[in-house]
Amino acid sequence: MVLAQLGGTITRAIQQMSNATIIDEKVLNECLNEINRALLNADVQFQLVRNMQNNIKRIVNIDDLAAGHNKRRIIQQAIFNELCNMLDPGKPSFTPKKGKTSVIMFVGLQGSGKTTTCTKYAYYHQKKGWKPALVCADTFRAGAFDQLKQNATKAKIPFYGSYTESDPVKIAVEGVDTFKKENCDLIIVDTSGRHKQEAALFEEMRQVSEATKPDLIVFVMDSSIGQAAFDQAQAFKQSVPVGAVIVTKMDGHAKGGGALSAVAATKSPVIFIGTGEHMDEFEVFDVKPFVSRLLGMGDWSGFMDKIHEVVPKDQQPELLQKLSEGNFTLRIMYEQFQNILKMGPIGQVFSMLPGFSSELMPKGQEKESQAKIKRYMTMMDSMTNEELDSSNPKIMNDSRIMRIARGSGRQVREVMEMLEEYKRLAKIWSKMKGLKIPTRGDMNMR
Ligand code: GDP
Repeated sequence: MVLAQLGGTITRAIQQMSNATIIDEKVLNECLNEINRALLNADVQFQLVRNMQNNIKRIVNIDDLAAGHNKRRIIQQAIFNELCNMLDPGKPSFTPKKGKTSVIMFVGLQGSGKTTTCTKYAYYHQKKGWKPALVCADTFRAGAFDQLKQNATKAKIPFYGSYTESDPVKIAVEGVDTFKKENCDLIIVDTSGRHKQEAALFEEMRQVSEATKPDLIVFVMDSSIGQAAFDQAQAFKQSVPVGAVIVTKMDGHAKGGGALSAVAATKSPVIFIGTGEHMDEFEVFDVKPFVSRLLGMGDWSGFMDKIHEVVPKDQQPELLQKLSEGNFTLRIMYEQFQNILKMGPIGQVFSMLPGFSSELMPKGQEKESQAKIKRYMTMMDSMTNEELDSSNPKIMNDSRIMRIARGSGRQVREVMEMLEEYKRLAKIWSKMKGLKIPTRGDMNMR
């Protein structure tokens, strides 16, 4: 995802600024200009970027910052808050309740991923015990009903549509009525798209909306549309009361900044993102963890979710304790490698943490990453308890490195590479020292 590059650039800009001996207006401006360039490159709308810069400058008044203040932290916090504000319209979207019927209407241009997203949304809720149903009110695109039918059948979700009826309003109303009678609690209406915004599309959307009275209208947007995002989102919002946004194809080469623009244009939150073509490549979107991850600050809630999911229960308290102590030993690395290998698709837990995902386990190279981890573990098998339990990398002197290489049948170079990896991860973990690690109950879980 190119947004990761955006995060990297922003983090580097902050880093560079903090390397400066004195942080004055000029240094701050350079840092903000760098961030602006990164945001514009990621297709965030110009005006939004401009506003963000002005807000930060207003908040971080360099002259007012007394000596001794941690300027880097204050600026980083201001950037974090501004990015969160950009992505947070300030009011949550309508949240359907399990067991109580809600009608959710999906709108968006053709090809945005609307039909796929309808099924993903239904499937996501079905797995959580809901009773979803899908209505295909897209009579414009030939094959739309077949596509929905195929997806729905695969996910065992009831569906409604017609090959002969050409009036989308009629189909939508009949579908919604049918599923209301069947006590479905989430009735999802997929509407037509067009290749571009045009009056006929908006008129049709308005009619379907008026006839079905949806509790929520979700605007589906392809993340690769770039700078056009703002206008497109605004055009939809002006036609129907869009209440939430789902951004698709965040897995691709899209720059993703359009998501920020769409929020600004619709004043509605992004509730999910699509991260692939498969049914379960769909993630709940939470602003703060997302921005944290973007700024390389780690995604606590995603990370904690994964820890609860994959780290054996009896190991969780100890791991969390070690995390908060910031003491990352080779033994911890070994144990986490064991967990990662056990859980199959590699890297899910630590992909939530900066460092683990992109460098140790690049996407698409799972096999190589797995082999690398196994190699590292073989080398660690030749280490003494003292070496494994020390959090001081300095104890790994030449003679120890040579002994480990001999004992594991690997090259000295490889042992050094493994130790470099360890140091890199230890550095990341050390940042967590003293942090209050949220427990499950602390977090806003959906
Ligand atoms: P619609 O015309 O808006 O209903 O779009 P579709 O649901 O037919 O999707 C268009 C294409 O985008 C299809 O090939 C989907 O498989 C693909 N697609 C949808 N969502 C995603 C996503 O999150 N990631 C990727 N890579 N492809 C997606």
